[in-house]
Amino acid sequence: MFQPRLYSLLVGSALFLSACTAPPNAATAASPTAPVAAPTQSADPAASAAAAAAAAAAEPSISFEAWRDTFRNKALAHGVQPALFDRAFANVSVDDSVVKADRSQPEFTRPVWEYLDGAVSPLRVTKGKALLTQHSGILRSIEQRYGVDRQALVAIWGMESNFGQFMGDKSVIRSLATLAYEGRRPQFAEDQLLAALLILQQGDIQPERMLGSWAGAMGQTQFIPTTYNSHAVDFDGDGRRDIWTSSTDALASAAHYLQASGWQFGQPWGYEVALPSGFDYAHADADIRKPLNEWIALGVKVPAVAVRADERASLLLPAGHRGPAFLVFNNFRAILRYNNSSSYALAVGLLSERFDNGGQVLGSWPRNDLPLSRSERIELQERLAQKGLQPGAADSIIGANTRKAIRSYQQQLGWAADGYPNHELLKQLRN
Ligand code: CA
Repeated sequence: MFQPRLYSLLVGSALFLSACTAPPNAATAASPTAPVAAPTQSADPAASAAAAAAAAAAEPSISFEAWRDTFRNKALAHGVQPALFDRAFANVSVDDSVVKADRSQPEFTRPVWEYLDGAVSPLRVTKGKALLTQHSGILRSIEQRYGVDRQALVAIWGMESNFGQFMGDKSVIRSLATLAYEGRRPQFAEDQLLAALLILQQGDIQPERMLGSWAGAMGQTQFIPTTYNSHAVDFDGDGRRDIWTSSTDALASAAHYLQASGWQFGQPWGYEVALPSGFDYAHADADIRKPLNEWIALGVKVPAVAVRADERASLLLPAGHRGPAFLVFNNFRAILRYNNSSSYALAVGLLSERFDNGGQVLGSWPRNDLPLSRSERIELQERLAQKGLQPGAADSIIGANTRKAIRSYQQQLGWAADGYPNHELLKQLRN
C-alpha cells in the first residue's frame, strides 16, 4: 500500500494552472459551464485568467431599452421569433446585483485546502453515496450510453448544484441581458443570451422557469446556454431537455459533455504521489505532460493503480512544494473542460473516490501558508517586473508568465522552483 506520509518531508508541491488568484465569482472564459458564481468554485486558485483579463466595464453609452431594441434586431436575424423575443423580454430590466457580482474583485481568496474541505465535505459524501444507490439503474444506463463513470457524474452534480439543490434563482434572460448591456464581457454575454433565446424557442423550458446563476449558468449541471445547446440531452424521453427538474436529463447531459471532452471510462483522474529528495519542481507545470514511465524514472513514487506506462500526466502541486503532490491524467483534463480550474477538478476527482471510501489526501497542506491577497499578488508582479523577470501585466492573476518569473527568481535564490507565490517570496522581493 502506498504511503505518502512516509515521504512527507520530501514531498514537494507547486502550482498547476495558476496560483490563488480567482475572486469568488471569477469567470473562466474557457469553461463550458462558467462563468459561474457557484460558491463551490469560489476559492479556486486556478480559475480566473480570463476574468481578470476583462477590463472594468465601460459605462453604457445608450439606455438599456435602446440596447434591447438593437439586440432584438440581431436576435430576429438569427431566427428568433418576434413574439418569443417580446415574451422573454417582458418586464426585463437591468439587474444591479448582477452588475455588482460581475465587477467584484475580492481582496482575499480561500486557500485550496479550505476549498476542498467545503467541496468534499462528509455531508456531501454521504449524500452522494445515497444518490448513487438511489439512481443506480439510470446511472448504469448513462454509463453504457456515454462511457462516463457514475462516481464522476455524481461528484460533478454535487459540485455544481449540491445535487440539484442550488441552481441559482435568477432569470437567465435578465442576467445575460444585464451582462450584455454593461458586463465586462458583453460579446460573450450576448452570444449566451442569443443561445438562451433559442433554447426557449425550442420549448425545452418556459421563460419564467429558466433560472440560473448571476452569470447565466443553468440548472443542475450549471450549463451556460451554448453548452446546453451543444450537449444537453433528453434522457428520460419526455421530449424536453430538462436540466432543471429532471436529474436523469441533468446527469446524462453532464455525461454527454464529459464524453465530448474525451473522458476515458474506468481510468483514474489522477492520484497523489510522493516526490524524491532534490526533485526539480520546474517539472510541475500544467503545460508539461510526460508519459507516466518518465515520471517514475524521475523518482516519482506512484500508487499501485493500473495506468498505462505511456499515459501522459502532469504534476499538480496545488499549494506549492510544501503541500501534497498529484499526477493528473486525461480525465482530469476532461473535468477542466467542464470548469477550467485545477482546484475544481481536484475536488471532483477526490469526491468521486470518496464515494468508494477512497480519495483521502495523505500529504499535509501548509495550513499556515495563507494565499497572497489580491493587492499582494499585484505587488509581487510589480516587484518581479522591476527585477526584469517579465511576469506579465500586474493584474493579480498568477498565469503562465508570472509563474515562470517566480521560478526564475526562486532559481536565482536557490529555492525550490515551484512557481508558487507566497508571503516568503514577497518578503524576499521587498528586501
Ligand atoms: Ca427530458
